[in-house]
Amino acid sequence: MSAAMTRLFNDPADFTEEALAGFVQLHADLVQAVPGGVVRATETPPGKVAVVIGGGSGHYPAFCGVVGDGFADGAVVGNIFTSPATSDAISVAKAADGGGGVLFSFGNYAGDVMNFGLAQQRLRAEGIDTRTVLVTDDIASAGRDEVHKRRGIAGDFVVFKIAGAAAEEGYDLDGVERVAIAANDRTRTLGVAFAGCTIPGQDEPLFQVPAGRMAVGLGIHGEPGIAEEPQPTADELAERLVSAVLAEAPQDGGRVGVILNGLGTTKYEELFVVWRSVAPRLADAGFEVVAPEVGELVTSLDMAGCSLTVVFLDEELERLWTAPATTPAFRRGSTAASGSAQRRRPEDAASAADDDGVPDASDASKAVAGTVTRALGAIAEAMREHESELARLDSVAGDGDHGRGMVRGSHAGVEAAEAARDAGAGSATVLRRAGDAWGASAGGTSGVLWGAALAAAGDRLGDEAEIGSADVVEAVAAGIAAVRELGKAEPGDKTMLDAMVPFADALTAEAEQKSLPDAWSAATDAAEQAAQGTAELSPRIGRARPLAHKSVGTPDPGAVSFGLAMRAVGQVISGEHEESA
Ligand code: ADP
Ligand code: MG
Repeated sequence: MSAAMTRLFNDPADFTEEALAGFVQLHADLVQAVPGGVVRATETPPGKVAVVIGGGSGHYPAFCGVVGDGFADGAVVGNIFTSPATSDAISVAKAADGGGGVLFSFGNYAGDVMNFGLAQQRLRAEGIDTRTVLVTDDIASAGRDEVHKRRGIAGDFVVFKIAGAAAEEGYDLDGVERVAIAANDRTRTLGVAFAGCTIPGQDEPLFQVPAGRMAVGLGIHGEPGIAEEPQPTADELAERLVSAVLAEAPQDGGRVGVILNGLGTTKYEELFVVWRSVAPRLADAGFEVVAPEVGELVTSLDMAGCSLTVVFLDEELERLWTAPATTPAFRRGSTAASGSAQRRRPEDAASAADDDGVPDASDASKAVAGTVTRALGAIAEAMREHESELARLDSVAGDGDHGRGMVRGSHAGVEAAEAARDAGAGSATVLRRAGDAWGASAGGTSGVLWGAALAAAGDRLGDEAEIGSADVVEAVAAGIAAVRELGKAEPGDKTMLDAMVPFADALTAEAEQKSLPDAWSAATDAAEQAAQGTAELSPRIGRARPLAHKSVGTPDPGAVSFGLAMRAVGQVISGEHEESA
């Protein structure tokens, strides 16, 4: 297959950063880069609510393309199809905050929920009132009785637009939150795809649609559709989309905002042909279309396909939907020439400079920190070796980014650990710094969970105490407890926990009779077996859930990578691992 392809990049690992750099250069009149994303080029007026949106990249104009007057104040920018890190969300929110509080809004994906959720906690602790409104417009991703499980797709645009307009009108944080929730409650989308999309640097699309067929109900991360149907004509497609979306209409007739959205490689002319028959069908059903948008608003790299979004308006939502906006990718009407708006000063890049100092540590703890650092190095090596296998597992029912995320996270983790170790850190500090760096670099669900696990394990070990096998066993348990608490998954949900819990149980039992290396090895066998055993499970949480049936038969990528990581650590503990540097 050579059809689906992202062709223009340098080092694929730099794609997001380089795309963002070009975007910011081009639109310097409207936006400015800050660590973790972009904000408007003008200061947020004192007291105005800051609407901060975000998610992974690969969706342009979403999300950085709609930062500007009347729309978002800032966008947190993650890697391709990967949640931004907690630290990114905090950084953008602080840059955007004008004292009126922050509304986070983003599509309902586990990684984003965890990272923005942690960011919200920390911002509140620092006195910045922060709220979150998840977008759940995709009617294909869960039933009507489980709307809270639905993911956000092109309806993101509607909710962000309406929240941004409300903030611009001077609504307070309660008010902006209220209309964002109302907009989400009244927005429905269904999408279809004709061909998959390809992550830069990969030569296979994340999924394929057989010739002459159409995938219905796909997500915007290349998650395959929930049904496959024959490729329709443009008019048949219009009928298919309109009837599905109207089947969920909260009202009979009325005024609606509409988006016919191209997903990346569907031409505007094709969309116009479909639109020609969407509008009359809505009119026939008693709906009057207000300020429709036809074009690319929320894309999925080079995916071929489109989606139809309808927002069922009331008077307030209509006013906000039609309010003016001036952003790099979207303009409506003209926003008041903001002559009084203060341009931001170029951010002093030094502000993020690291403080290399480390807390005092005992020699015993420093020695363990050395082993921990080598163990992280072994994990990083293992992830690099298995990157494409993990990507493949994750592309069956997930979004294909697990290999990349684990490589990025583990490599950043080992670098941070080495720096801390060289500065004389003990094991707690080494693990905490590795965890922060892992979460910040990997993004995604697994990144934030691994980051939290390493930090929690470190907290259990401390920087002073002597560390014996029992402490290692407890540190492992503490790390796993952190994953459970943050991810809210249970064993059997088909996540990394399904390998972690058997690992911890076996380690606890075996360490009572065996040396740590032998116990670790037995526990790794248990983890790997359990990871393979997840193939039979059907996911109940995370990105793979909407595609549960496709996932059966394939093991959970996060469980498999955990097994690989523990195998690598075991080799360090038992002295089998050769330093490859
Ligand atoms: P994303 O799901 O954001 O794309 P990754 O692809 O890197 O992130 O990681 C996917 C893995 O994360 C899954 O295979 C699963 O093991 C794990 N995971 C997802 N959600 C949870 C959760 N709530 N708790 C624990 N692990 C989870
Ligand atoms: Mg993934």
